[in-house]
Amino acid sequence: MNAIAFPAPRADILARRDAIIAGLAGLVLPEALITSDNECKAFETDAFTAYRRMPLAVVLPTTTAEVSAVLAYLHAEGVPVVPRGAGTSLCGGAIPQEDAVVVGVSKMNRILEVDYANRIARVQAGVTNLGISNAVDADGFFYAPDPSSQLACTIAGNIGMNSGGAHCLKYGVTTNNLMGVTAVLLDGTVVEIGGGHLDAAGLDLLGLLCGSEGQLAITTEATVRILRKAEGARPVLFGFPSAEAAGECVAAVIGAGIIPVAMEFMDRQAIAIVEDFAKAGYPLDVEALLIIEVEGSDAEMDAMLARIVEIANRHEVMTVRESKSAMEAAAIWKGRKSAFGATGRIADYICMDGTVPTGQLAHVLKETDGIVKKYGLRVANVFHAGDGNRHPLILYNVNDPVEAEKAEAAGMDILRLCVDVGGCLTGEHGVGIEKRDLMRHQFSETDLRQQMAIRAAFDPAWLLNPAKVFPLEGRS
Ligand SMILES: Cc1cc2nc3c(=O)[nH]c(=O)nc-3n(C[C@H](O)[C@H](O)[C@H](O)COP(=O)(O)OP(=O)(O)OC[C@H]3O[C@@H](n4cnc5c(N)ncnc54)[C@H](O)[C@@H]3O)c2cc1C
Repeated sequence: MNAIAFPAPRADILARRDAIIAGLAGLVLPEALITSDNECKAFETDAFTAYRRMPLAVVLPTTTAEVSAVLAYLHAEGVPVVPRGAGTSLCGGAIPQEDAVVVGVSKMNRILEVDYANRIARVQAGVTNLGISNAVDADGFFYAPDPSSQLACTIAGNIGMNSGGAHCLKYGVTTNNLMGVTAVLLDGTVVEIGGGHLDAAGLDLLGLLCGSEGQLAITTEATVRILRKAEGARPVLFGFPSAEAAGECVAAVIGAGIIPVAMEFMDRQAIAIVEDFAKAGYPLDVEALLIIEVEGSDAEMDAMLARIVEIANRHEVMTVRESKSAMEAAAIWKGRKSAFGATGRIADYICMDGTVPTGQLAHVLKETDGIVKKYGLRVANVFHAGDGNRHPLILYNVNDPVEAEKAEAAGMDILRLCVDVGGCLTGEHGVGIEKRDLMRHQFSETDLRQQMAIRAAFDPAWLLNPAKVFPLEGRS
């Protein structure tokens, strides 16, 4: 699978490698600088493992001041920079290029302040997503966006990709829970955007930075909203005779004005894979499963569930199974959150990420099946149905180049379908290199030029993560 192009590395930078490394060595401690092929190998790809490039060097600073010094130096030397958190991007967002220095924030992993009176936490950008919830859990609080990769991914990467998760249906994604950042511009200037207060004057630069995929600045600290945990929460399993019936049920629940905390979808293939791994108690005799979670007091949960069950009954629901204990609830979520890992046990896969209007879910699920069959492949669908954020996992054999090419082509067809029904190329995983060349399917030339002009206002020389997001052709 080698269809995605990287820019040719600049020979003048490669020729100056030793001098550039010597310059970096003067700015950070020896343990923060990685230059050997052996150690750089750990940074040559991310979770989009079909593509890899060895970086010029890797720097892992521990302070904002170090990030600032490193960026000012690389800017002066004209060297591209690839920001990195934990490297769990599924669209190749953190994959380096041969003439670039990776600047990773994984060692900047301290919780700096928790302020319950104002419901905020200030953290260094390399703190893991789950690390924030863990830090406030004992006091009854949590950080809401919960990507399935939350044990490993950093808040920096979450901001880079505007990440979501199962519980974002009710609580919103990263951008809805981010209050402020400390960020370093490419020339080394340190800027504070937003903060602990609820609104900020001026242009919404925080909104711009969130989801900018490491192309505008390097985030070194973040202030995020923390929320009080609900009185109770109950995930319920709903089994359906077809994917279409489940998709229609999702649209009907949302259409009735009901917003559960989460509505997650799995098709028969995904249920079998996950159940075999997690023993979560999922029904194996259904074609599609919805995990719907409600929360609140017992009375509130009962009332909302009664309305959802009534709608599900109108959509041929076969099974309704409530979790009866905290252990059962945990098993249901463990299964869902380990779905990608469980799939990796049985096959190689590409995880697509596109969003469609919820009213289109049933249609799109049917069409996806047709697309994948056309290429002679299999698909497991497991995704955030409540906000129409789809994740078809296309199964293939990475050692079979023909099959790998077909998997990539099927994925691109599915993403085009998402756009064609009024959705978009990404829900939460970002564009990276994976979807870069499809951006013209979503945006007009005028739209793209406008976005590139804004990007260039931060980074006129296109040195920050330059191979990503915008098609390589026709940039100037
Ligand atoms: C098994 C699995 C499950 C997943 N589930 C979900 C899910 O449910 N929801 C979801 O949204 N995603 C999910 N993801 C994708 C991924 O975990 C997210 O995109 C995550 O936010 C990436 O965080 P990271 O720290 O690994 O960032 P990286 O992969 O290192 O980087 C991601 C992007 O952010 C940029 N970046 C990193 N650090 C900085 C910084 N300090 N400043 C500026 N830019 C920076 C990078 O350049 C890159 O473009 C999953 C991934 C895996 C492997």
